[in-house]
Amino acid sequence: MFDPIQVRQDFPMLRQGKTMQGHPLVYLDNASTTFKPDCVIEAMNRYYMDETSNSHRGDYDLCYNADRRIESARHAVAEFLGAEDKEIVFTAGTTESINLVAYGYGLKFLKPGDEILLSVAEHASNMMPWFRIAELTGARIAYIPLEDGKITVEGLRKSLNEKTKIVAIAYVGNVLGYVAPVKEMAKIIHESGALFLVDGAQAVPHLAIDAKDLDCDFLAFSGHKMCGPTGIGVLYGKYENLCKMDPFLTGGGMNVKFSKDATSVCLPPPMKYEAGTLNIAGIYGLEAAVKYLASIGMDNIRAHEESLKRYAIEELKKTNMVTIYNEDAPSGIVTFNIHGVFAQDAATLLNSKGIACRSGQHCAKVLPEELGTVATVRASFYLYTTKGEIDALVEAVKKGGDFLDAYF
Ligand code: PMP
Repeated sequence: MFDPIQVRQDFPMLRQGKTMQGHPLVYLDNASTTFKPDCVIEAMNRYYMDETSNSHRGDYDLCYNADRRIESARHAVAEFLGAEDKEIVFTAGTTESINLVAYGYGLKFLKPGDEILLSVAEHASNMMPWFRIAELTGARIAYIPLEDGKITVEGLRKSLNEKTKIVAIAYVGNVLGYVAPVKEMAKIIHESGALFLVDGAQAVPHLAIDAKDLDCDFLAFSGHKMCGPTGIGVLYGKYENLCKMDPFLTGGGMNVKFSKDATSVCLPPPMKYEAGTLNIAGIYGLEAAVKYLASIGMDNIRAHEESLKRYAIEELKKTNMVTIYNEDAPSGIVTFNIHGVFAQDAATLLNSKGIACRSGQHCAKVLPEELGTVATVRASFYLYTTKGEIDALVEAVKKGGDFLDAYF
């Protein structure tokens, strides 16, 4: 097991004694984005300070070096996921990865009457691209029913039918933090002949993943939620699917040739999907991030977050002042409301004590109907979160009582 106090020394945002509203900063919004360790910042700086060049473009050493670095990063990400290098496409993040599959696969293969199966707990980035594709192709959107906020195998079985062509769900939900049974789901989805896209934005940063073992067709995630830079992410796709799809973006870097008669030939995947100049600094940073997380150990990170979650639930419950919506979710996300305090007011109150939590609908705008509340507060932990920070959260929640007293 690692020591979170020691780990904090790797992060400039944590070791410089930052304050917010005159209090030590307590950052509990890691489901939104995470801090970056020195190794990630240094890797990006190395590109800008010492190794700047475009990739796939030139016949000189600097350029060869950039190409080599990109392929080394692709290999590091593939190893991190138990995938093959050729199955790793660099994108701007989860949103772009899902759009790539929606437009590259959905638009090409879906027909009127086909079904795209989602859940109401999905993030906007795993709903809106599918809404658009349904509109463009005449396909229909259907939902797996949730059971107490969870996606279950039984719910999936009930919802699948011969019309279902794509199932797209989050491995870990960004509001409630429930972990979907994706391995069992993949088996059932494939037996029915559909494809399975897993939104891994909240999973890849926190769980050990073996893409081959999960057997999903696509897995989308973002670097910035896993200690990496913003603006870089990945689409993992089984190679046969990447070969069948069309590119979503076209242009330089992804073609073999194009002619005046408006025909063109694409490079094979993954380059087929990497049009334009890549976020090369982001790729350097992402490589450093996956190596950093692997060196700590994904099982250790998960165990640390689960133990923090249990502690947070215990302590928050002792206040008798909160409703918790996801007590049994096995991840580092606690979603709650302070009795009688609107979520956004609660987040403002927490801010006044130096605590950064997200409030509102967390981009999953259909889920609140299911929860019976319009908005929630979300505290989300990571490898550098400490019990002391949870104590600070609990103390600030108790101050919610003072807040109410001031008004009533
Ligand atoms: N899906 C989920 C489950 C998420 O939590 C997020 C980010 N909040 C996204 C998709 C979108 O990620 P990004 O903004 O990095 O593209």
